[in-house]
Amino acid sequence: MEMNDTLVQRVTEDSFMNQLKQANPGETEFHQAVHEVYESVLPVLEKHEEYRSYQVFERMVEPERIVSFRVTWVDDNGVPQVNRGYRVQMNSAIGPFKGGLRFHPSVNQSILKFLGFEQIFKNALTSLPLGGGKGGSNFDPKGKSDGEVMRFCQNFMLELSKHIGHRIDIPAGDIGVGGREIGYMYGMYRKIENQFSGVLTGKGVKWGGSLIRPEATGYGLIYFSQYMMENIGDSLAGKNCLVSGSGNVAQFAMEKIIELGGKPISASDSSGYIYDEEGIDTEKLEYIKDLKNERRGRLAEYVEKYPSAIYSPTDRSLDYNPLWAHNADCAFPCATQNELNEADANNLIKGNAKLVAEGANMPCTPEAINVLRDNGVMYAPGKASNAGGVATSGLEMVQNYSGSHWTSEEVDRRLQVIMKNIHDNCLYAAEKYSTQNDYMSGANIAGFIKVADAMIAQGLL
Ligand code: NDP
Repeated sequence: MEMNDTLVQRVTEDSFMNQLKQANPGETEFHQAVHEVYESVLPVLEKHEEYRSYQVFERMVEPERIVSFRVTWVDDNGVPQVNRGYRVQMNSAIGPFKGGLRFHPSVNQSILKFLGFEQIFKNALTSLPLGGGKGGSNFDPKGKSDGEVMRFCQNFMLELSKHIGHRIDIPAGDIGVGGREIGYMYGMYRKIENQFSGVLTGKGVKWGGSLIRPEATGYGLIYFSQYMMENIGDSLAGKNCLVSGSGNVAQFAMEKIIELGGKPISASDSSGYIYDEEGIDTEKLEYIKDLKNERRGRLAEYVEKYPSAIYSPTDRSLDYNPLWAHNADCAFPCATQNELNEADANNLIKGNAKLVAEGANMPCTPEAINVLRDNGVMYAPGKASNAGGVATSGLEMVQNYSGSHWTSEEVDRRLQVIMKNIHDNCLYAAEKYSTQNDYMSGANIAGFIKVADAMIAQGLL
C-alpha cells in the first residue's frame, strides 16, 4: 500500500514538473524552486480535494503579470547604454505584491520568477498581508560611478513607476540594491508621481524608512537560528559560525552572532573568501562594513589589515566551495542562490556542523538539502529564516500608512515576535503533516495553505 502511494505521488509529481518545464523552457532556477515546494505540499494536495479541484498550485506557478522593459541611460563618457528591467508580479491573493529588486549581471526572467515564487510563501509566513513579487535588472552597479548608478536608477524607475504603487506593488532592495539605489529610485518616483508615499521600502530613516530595516534580514536569520537551537536545548553562544557573503544580510547576521556570544569565522564576496580562525569581532566587522559599503572594495584587503586571517580567491575550476570545508558548528549561506552544493554539504558534515540556516534565497542545492537532512543537520530554508527583511519592510509600510515612526527597540521587538511565530508555525505545520521537526516542509506547507485558502475564497482568477 505504502509503495503504491509513493508511486502515485512520484507519477503525479513527474507529470506536473514536466508540464511546468515545457511551459517555462530553460528556466532552471524557477523549476528548482517550484519542485521544492511541490514536493513538500503533495501530502496537503492529497488530503484536501479543494486545492486540487481549484487548480491552486497550477495557478500559483503562473505569475499574475510580468513586465520587462528597456532601460536606457548614459555613462560617464556620454555613451548610451541599454539594460533590461523586469518586475514579476507573482501573487497578490493576500496583499499587494512585495519583494526586492536585484541589480546583477546574472538577472534574467528565470531568476526573478524563482525569487518571486519563493516570496509568495515567505511573505505568507510573516503573518502580514503581503503578496509576492520580485524585480530587477541585468545592470551591474559594480565599478560604476555614483552618477552612473543614479542615472540608471532614474531611468529604471521611469518605466517601473507605471506598474507599482503603495497599495499595488512595493519593491525593496536585494543584491546590488541598497540604500543608495533605493534613494535614487525613490526620488524619481516622487518626482514622477508628485507624491510622498511608501512605494519602496528600505528607505533612509530620515525620509520614511524604518529603523532596523537594514539589519532585519541578518538579525532575523540569527533570531530564527537561536530558536532552532533552543528547540533542542542549546544556543548559539560559543558556536563557530561559517558565513558566506559580506553584503547586507551577511554583515548583520555576523553582528547578531557576535551579540549572542557566537563566533563568525568567515565571509566572502564574488572574488573570494576570508577565514579568520580567531573570529570576526565587532572591530573587524566594522572594517568589513566600511570596506564593502563605503569603499566598495574586495575582501582581499581584509588580510592586509588582519594578517592572521586567510584569503582564498574564488576558484571556479573546483566543484566545491572551500569556505564550507572548515570545521564549524553552524553555517549561514548569505550570498546567492546555489552557492552550497552536495560536496559542500558533505564537507560541512565532516566538519561537525549541526545547523544550516539560509540567509540568501535558495543558496543550498536540492542535493545539498537532502544530504543535510539525511544526516540529521538542522536545516532552515530561506523563505522562513530570511523572512525578517520583508517582515520589517511590512512594518515600514505600516509606519508609512499611519504616519508614525517607531523606535529601534519597538521594531526589533516586533521582528523577534515575527521570527518566533514563523519558527513555531513551521514546526506546527510539519508536525501536522507527519514531517516532525522538518522546517522545510513546515515552511512550504504553512505558506501554501494561507495563500491557497485566500485564492479559493476569492474565486477563480
Ligand atoms: P548584497 O548585494 O548586499 O550582498 C551580496 C553579497 O553576496 C556580496 O558579498 C556579493 O559579493 C556576494 N555575491 C553576490 N552574488 C554572488 C555570486 N554570484 N557569487 C559569489 N558571491 C556573490 O545583497 P544582500 O546581502 O541583500 O543579499 C544576499 C542574499 O540574501 C540574496 O540571495 C538575497 O536575495 C537574499 N535576501 C536579501 C534580503 C535583504 O533584505 N537584503 C532579504 C531576504 C533575502 P560582491 O560584494 O563581490 O558583489
